[in-house]
Amino acid sequence: MVSQEDLAVRTLGPCRIDSPLAARLGERQTTQHSVVEEDRILFDDTISMVGGRGLPIDQLPSLEPGGPRKQIYFDPAKTRVGIVTCGGLCPGLNDVIRGLVLELSRHYGVRRIVGFRNGYRGFIPRYGEDVLDLTPEVVMDIDDEGGTILGTSRGEQDAEEVVDALERLGINILFVIGGDGTIRGAMDVVRVIGERGLKVAVVGIPKTIDNDIPYIDQSFGFQTAMAEATKSIHAASVEARSAPGGIGLVKLMGRHSGFIACYSTLAKDDADYVLIPEVPFALDGERGFLEHLRRRVEDRGHAVVVVAEGAGQEHIQGEEPGRDASGNIRFGDIGRLLRRLVVDHFDAHGTETNVRYFDPSYAIRSVPANPFDSAYCLRLAHAAVHAAMAGRTEVIVARRRRRFVHMPMPLAVSRRNHVDPMGDLWLSVLEATGQPVRFE
Ligand code: ATP
Ligand code: MG
Repeated sequence: MVSQEDLAVRTLGPCRIDSPLAARLGERQTTQHSVVEEDRILFDDTISMVGGRGLPIDQLPSLEPGGPRKQIYFDPAKTRVGIVTCGGLCPGLNDVIRGLVLELSRHYGVRRIVGFRNGYRGFIPRYGEDVLDLTPEVVMDIDDEGGTILGTSRGEQDAEEVVDALERLGINILFVIGGDGTIRGAMDVVRVIGERGLKVAVVGIPKTIDNDIPYIDQSFGFQTAMAEATKSIHAASVEARSAPGGIGLVKLMGRHSGFIACYSTLAKDDADYVLIPEVPFALDGERGFLEHLRRRVEDRGHAVVVVAEGAGQEHIQGEEPGRDASGNIRFGDIGRLLRRLVVDHFDAHGTETNVRYFDPSYAIRSVPANPFDSAYCLRLAHAAVHAAMAGRTEVIVARRRRRFVHMPMPLAVSRRNHVDPMGDLWLSVLEATGQPVRFE
């Protein structure tokens, strides 16, 4: 259970500098728009959760609101900022970079912003990466393209060396845009900053195309990714209907969490089966997936199967799973395995089949953000700048129940967000597909 200690936000010190937003917006507007520090956002949202705490109202766990403060910690004229993107691609990375640069320079008057290239290796001298000066002109149209203008990478880097680079360049604020690994890396950086007694803020904008960061409404890029995935489901459906015994098999992203598979299936109501990491399934036997699929194809002539990449890993035999440069487990290819097993199973029963296999992962990750995600990225970037200028550190900015909040990094990586097999999302999927509750 999350407690108030888990939600406590670290700051570098008191805010004593008048925010330049006041001069720009006028005192009245600033008062209207800036955050009331004493008010906080309740963490629990049901009566049973609140009741279960047995605490008086002023002791209920609550989050610090995001947004502009009337007074800030850093003097914009003396502030130097670094930005880095790490991990896999996700729609909206360029939107976030653009939003950070525009907010910092136009609204706070920060003039020195650099981008580190290719993830955390951009800090390490032996890779020989230069830094990129980020100005409004440089970032103005970058949101038209997917990917990240800074580049990204995986692979462990020494936090001491990262902080050496921050000191060398005189950086006061570091924005990290990345997933759970990146946030863990940022926590190491915060630790070293603390050990050296430096006053450097580290603020994260969480990136996860799988939507698996806990406690937040939705991660940026997720909506774009899910919309893009529906195109593959549609194509798979067209292919399946166009061939005797047609099966359209679509493998989507989702290493630990099947949100993309679930939502894209609901959006494009063409799929007959959805397989996700959260719901184990049996392959063989009368009530297993293969036989169910075969009977469905015999009855109806075709079928569409959507599988998340992390689903059914228990069926992948062989050697120890490999790991990527960052130490993440490399998943066995469930899509290819299913294709082979389906063909074998149908052949063994003399059922005709034509499997069309779609693996659109890279095509989905690399598209530009849709308008919803672009707007969301811009607002997350604004919230991140407000947090950092106010001296918050070791936090991510997040949207929780339609409010921007500051969430401590340790809490953000403490668990993953999963599709609840007992929850209403999975129920909707079961209803949309008509698949059995369990393959056993
Ligand atoms: P994705 O969602 O694409 O996996 P990610 O941020 O989790 O995004 P990773 O490749 O796992 O991507 O990590 C990005 C960077 O963070 C890498 O440089 C990696 O070395 C570093 N990192 C990952 N895990 C840790 C950890 N436990 N401690 C410190 N640094 C880490
Ligand atoms: Mg990761």
